Amino acid sequence: MKQSLTFMPTMRQVPSDADIISHQLLLRAGFIRQNTSGVYSFLPLGKKVLQKIEKIIREEMEAIDAVEVFMPALQQAELWQETGRWYSYGPELFRLKDRHDREFVLGATHEEVITSLVRDEVKSYKKLPLTMFQIQTKFRDEQRPRFGLLRGREFIMKDAYSFHATEESLDEKYEDMKRAYMNIFTRLGLDFRAVIADGGTIGGTDTHEFMALSDIGEDTIAYSDSSSYAANIEMAEVNISYIKKDEPLKEVEKVATPDQKTIDEVATYLEIETDQLIKTLIFRADDEHVAVLCRGDHEINAIKLKNTLGATEIELAAERDVQSLLACAVGSIGPVKLPVGLHVIADHAVAAVVNGVCGANEDGFHLKNVNPERDFAVDSYEDLRFIREGDVSPDGNGTIKFAKGIEVGHIFKLGTTYSEPMEGTFLDENGKAKPYIMGCYGIGVSRILAAVAEQFNDENGLKWPKNLSPYDVHLISVNVKDDIQKELADELYSVLKSYRYEVLYDDRPERAGVKFADSDLIGLPIRLTVGKKASEGIVEVKFRQTGETTEWQKEEITEKLQ
Ligand code: ATP
Ligand code: MG
Ligand code: MG
Ligand code: MG
Repeated sequence: MKQSLTFMPTMRQVPSDADIISHQLLLRAGFIRQNTSGVYSFLPLGKKVLQKIEKIIREEMEAIDAVEVFMPALQQAELWQETGRWYSYGPELFRLKDRHDREFVLGATHEEVITSLVRDEVKSYKKLPLTMFQIQTKFRDEQRPRFGLLRGREFIMKDAYSFHATEESLDEKYEDMKRAYMNIFTRLGLDFRAVIADGGTIGGTDTHEFMALSDIGEDTIAYSDSSSYAANIEMAEVNISYIKKDEPLKEVEKVATPDQKTIDEVATYLEIETDQLIKTLIFRADDEHVAVLCRGDHEINAIKLKNTLGATEIELAAERDVQSLLACAVGSIGPVKLPVGLHVIADHAVAAVVNGVCGANEDGFHLKNVNPERDFAVDSYEDLRFIREGDVSPDGNGTIKFAKGIEVGHIFKLGTTYSEPMEGTFLDENGKAKPYIMGCYGIGVSRILAAVAEQFNDENGLKWPKNLSPYDVHLISVNVKDDIQKELADELYSVLKSYRYEVLYDDRPERAGVKFADSDLIGLPIRLTVGKKASEGIVEVKFRQTGETTEWQKEEITEKLQ
């Protein structure tokens, strides 16, 4: 590609609204431009990198027999009503109406759409397992869009969904996915870790996140220095002293009326912001009452709602810091105990408020979202604490260390969380209808672009790893007015292209200093400079990764590039 013909607006100044290095560099090097808060255009260089990321993902998905589809971003509200997420997803969900006043959402994720697709077509165990993926734009009205592509409101995700007749089949696919994800992030060149994670608003049991290590990461991971254990500590910095020792949860403070059906109504009634209602902290106190824990400024209140809401209907959008307040549960192994009359509906995080007897008011329910590797039981608040740096690793091997990470991938075993409410069923070998057992698997494609930029840069600009670099070679003609230089540069450009190298050719009538600065900023792995020594057929070579320079004869270039 001739640089004179493409769109690569570079900037010398550091943009004032970009406060992390990847965001600054991607803007300055002309990979992206912001349209509005959390919404970006990918310029030619950015788009190239995206394509390379996507290619690696596609190859690894196809290697485990996942097939590619493309589903709509515009989704009818009815689907989301079927699973209840229309009510529970909270303000992150973009909602809109068509001209007939029908309600829609812009897809934040696609469990509903794919389940509706499959339930109409796959009726027999013989057609299972089935795994499909797509690479597509997602919309989430994030409370704090920031850090450029890392937390956008419109972003690109690879999402895969698997459907199974048996738990064993799901377990197998989950392991396949885990391996595929390890391959993907390794091939992407990222320094990353796979960690035990939290279910979040998607729901589900077994779940792992893939974290690109970075000081600006919003997640904290606890890992054993023996590499045998790693988990997301889900915000260790949240102050656990919010829960006062020996202080029981406050009982009925306010009683809501049965007609408060939506989250917003409940929040309004409680005089708190919707996002203070915490999905993970919903209990069923008894058949009639639902207790909602919410965070005031400095304390947690348990509020018992006399309400007909089933807890699943009011699964609330969780703010991660709040959600994880009680998820101080990375680590020890053991069953989770629950106090009598106060039973977990929503999530494992509740394990932390445990004070007593093991039990649940629905058979097996209290253990549903408990992950023995991740959650631990406590008998009193005294035992309640976050895992700390220097602790013995929960698996007994090594000592715990902390690191910051960017969540670049997340895999879940969903079970029947979606197929059950949506009546997605198949007939088993005995002709009995059963809900599909499902898994879902996400990768933040556009977020990866920023995560790689965050890990690969220096004071002069980006330093693309070979696999992701927008072009293989940056060919620079120092003085385009010099016929000998121009001729040699043109010749190299066509030779390299004929050898299938992707070449960015700086043929612009700019000063050498400008070209070199832009070249460092853009950060292709190899720069070939055609300058004064063109008459001798000599080209200057610079390796961006190491800064090393050397000279090659023009005839030896294609051989040495390999
Ligand atoms: P986060 O904890 O960062 O908000 P999430 O857990 O909500 O992410 P998932 O629902 O697990 O995200 O989505 C799958 C992947 O999509 C994530 O692992 C992440 O890489 C990416 N992703 C999620 N939200 C965003 C966003 N706002 N901008 C860019 N990528 C995102
Ligand atoms: Mg999120
Ligand atoms: Mg997350
Ligand atoms: Mg996630």
